[in-house]
Amino acid sequence: ESPTNISRVLEFRMMPYGEKHYLLIARDITQISHVEQVRKDFVANVSHELRTPLTVLSGYLEMLKESPEMPQSFIDKAFDEMGTQSTRMQSLVEQLLALSRIEASTERVYEKVVNVPQVLRTIEIEAQSLNKNKGHSIEFEVDEGLQIYGVETELRSAFSNLIFNAINYTPNGGKIKVCWGKEQDRARFKVIDNGEGIPEEHLSRLTERFYRVDKARSRKTGGTGLGLSIVKHVLSHHNSKLEINSDVGQGSEFSFAFAKQIIAIKE
Ligand code: ADP
Repeated sequence: ESPTNISRVLEFRMMPYGEKHYLLIARDITQISHVEQVRKDFVANVSHELRTPLTVLSGYLEMLKESPEMPQSFIDKAFDEMGTQSTRMQSLVEQLLALSRIEASTERVYEKVVNVPQVLRTIEIEAQSLNKNKGHSIEFEVDEGLQIYGVETELRSAFSNLIFNAINYTPNGGKIKVCWGKEQDRARFKVIDNGEGIPEEHLSRLTERFYRVDKARSRKTGGTGLGLSIVKHVLSHHNSKLEINSDVGQGSEFSFAFAKQIIAIKE
């Protein structure tokens, strides 16, 4: 009998029991089969995501080989497209490695102090360079004395994923605000944008691997669909959780807070 209303997966086995009887053993394998399904979906997704750029690459290579007399404009376009597709594969492989590193991470969170304001300053420089063609106004409001215990590389990727997403999913000339500060006795990181927003029905699935609201749009910005999944794992390693508020056409707010036990210095 199932206590919840989800459907259960059961495995039955029948064994002889004495001379005239059989023993029927039922095992609830709902959890095992769910994990197995998630694994299969992941492998299928990775293969699909890698196959797409590979197909484009080999198509162009074949064409260049078969017809070397093509107009120069076509050859230029082919090389551009091949460059885009190999960069795409590269970032996919890098993000996959980052994800598996974080999932398997045994680094202790309470050993090293991370100078978050300093980390945010380096991300701000990268953000401004990504912002060159976008023309957003990006404002950083940072409590310079607020540091926490944690794993620097992991936290850096959580902060930058959210900031780069805000830049990518906000139409040119938007407004983005990044905040790092105290909220009661906790430390909170917040990225607010006035971009396209996310329809309510997608919110609960955004941190799933490869989940995107609009696949074509995400590809155009160089997205892999793994960023928020990385953020989720980093946060769970640091005992925190991603909070998302969004209104379509108005913008989004991605934020998370760290417990007071993790705060290292507050001047
Ligand atoms: P991607 O590599 O596609 O950006 P993410 O895991 O970082 O993957 O994000 C998943 C999806 O969430 C994106 O494809 C996009 O649809 C949506 N998203 C993320 N951040 C924002 C944002 N600031 N505004 C609107 N949509 C967003």
